[in-house]
Amino acid sequence: MTRTAIVWFRRDLRVHDHPALTAAIAAADVVIPVFVFDEVLLAGKWPAPNRVWFMRESVAALSGELAARGAGLRVLRGKPADVIPALAAETGAADVYVTRDATPYGRRRDRAVAEALAAGGIGFHARTGLYVHEPDTLATKDGRPFSVFGAFKRAWDAAPRRALVPAPDAIPGDGRAADPIPDVAAPTASADHIPTPGESAARDRLAKWAVQPVADYAANRDRLDLAGTSRLSQDLRFGLVSPLDVVERAEGDGDGRRVFVSEVAWREFYAHVLWHHPRVAGEAYQRAFQHLPVRDDPAALQAWKAGQTGYPVVDAAMRQLAATGFMHNRARMIAASFLTKHLLLDRRLGEAHFMAHLTDGDLASNNGGWQWTASTGTDSQPYFRVFNPVLQGQRNDPQGDYVRRWVPELRGVSPARIQDPWAMSALEQTAAGCRIGIDYPAPIVDHAEARARALAVYGEAKAGSGRG
Ligand SMILES: Cc1cc2nc3c(=O)[nH]c(=O)nc-3n(C[C@H](O)[C@H](O)[C@H](O)COP(=O)(O)OP(=O)(O)OC[C@H]3O[C@@H](n4cnc5c(N)ncnc54)[C@H](O)[C@@H]3O)c2cc1C
Repeated sequence: MTRTAIVWFRRDLRVHDHPALTAAIAAADVVIPVFVFDEVLLAGKWPAPNRVWFMRESVAALSGELAARGAGLRVLRGKPADVIPALAAETGAADVYVTRDATPYGRRRDRAVAEALAAGGIGFHARTGLYVHEPDTLATKDGRPFSVFGAFKRAWDAAPRRALVPAPDAIPGDGRAADPIPDVAAPTASADHIPTPGESAARDRLAKWAVQPVADYAANRDRLDLAGTSRLSQDLRFGLVSPLDVVERAEGDGDGRRVFVSEVAWREFYAHVLWHHPRVAGEAYQRAFQHLPVRDDPAALQAWKAGQTGYPVVDAAMRQLAATGFMHNRARMIAASFLTKHLLLDRRLGEAHFMAHLTDGDLASNNGGWQWTASTGTDSQPYFRVFNPVLQGQRNDPQGDYVRRWVPELRGVSPARIQDPWAMSALEQTAAGCRIGIDYPAPIVDHAEARARALAVYGEAKAGSGRG
């Protein structure tokens, strides 16, 4: 009897190092790949045209890779718990293989699908592939989740790894041609700024990065004006490359390689935190800061979103996000710190705005980054550290090239004043072609006052919880 298996692709849009695909090919005579345009995700909490567009193009590329190996990708629309069991019934499949997903929604969805399949006697097999170490495999000596990155990283380094699996040469399909891929809305960012979607483009990015630039990562990674980071985040987000492959290619001697691998491990740390504490998706990890008295100030929120705060590095960051669907990591920290500390607005408003625009938007990493910056998370920066946007700009964008690129009103301003243009005299403003309050906004908050306000509010919350 012919044994048929379905491989259901989700955020693992690749054929290289894909343990679920390899297992299905080993176990079955016929393998049917499928992708579901999941209505819950498409119309979900965070509609994100950049991400949906990148995903759609990457699914199209995957379809090509699968077809070249002999299998036509089925493309379905609907609720996975309905359409996957229906496909199994239609094709007579005995098994469904997936790469294990760790998000709260993914876990719920997979439980529902597995139950529906089990009712029909069909197996549901989840294999690793989105992490070097699955979020629930590492634990402290007494079996608890980690709350400090350093200890997590030591366990992550020490844990045994599986071997990489090669891409299959051939996939025994059922002879059906690939389904057409539905159109989706255009990205809100300019498509020229979004890295080329699809596995082979991602593999090229990884190959180029791992040869040399990674060696300079430690020195360049914080520089806003240089291309000093890998730009692999959307590829890891959609599984166009496997994190194990990324790590094994990047590993080697030198600070650059060491620090880079450690950053990839941060991604896994935040997945670990979200796995064990799904509540962080909606609330502060640190209970002291759960009811921080944030301000309600729609005008300030709007100025932040639009890149009109009057702080050049913050505005450059926010405009980079809108134009490209990406923001440099250091800029994410500066922009998030400004929203949560200087403006004292609800962290979740910023988190949602990032999710609406980031092509790499990922619940675990985005939430982890926001909670780190807002000082509400696991291994966060202490609440009394408030980034000074002027100093951050001067340090990480020394000539102001990043600011000039994204905030054209400031193009004529000298490197000495580009991070605090309000300090220019009237004469200097005229010479620079930039009148503060007319061509470019005056700062919407004063740094010293905002910092004092944040320290008071956070300090009070901390003290209150101590009394508590
Ligand atoms: C407020 C805030 C929000 C963020 N939101 C996201 C998000 O939604 N999705 C996302 O992938 N990253 C997020 N990050 C982490 C980081 O900013 C991006 O991963 C990085 O900028 C992507 O660029 P890159 O691929 O060139 O990174 P590189 O510096 O080359 O790093 C390599 C990879 O390591 C991982 N990584 C690096 N830094 C971090 C980090 N601090 N936390 C978790 N993973 C990391 C990413 O997968 C990245 O692709 C956020 C950080 C902050 C401070």
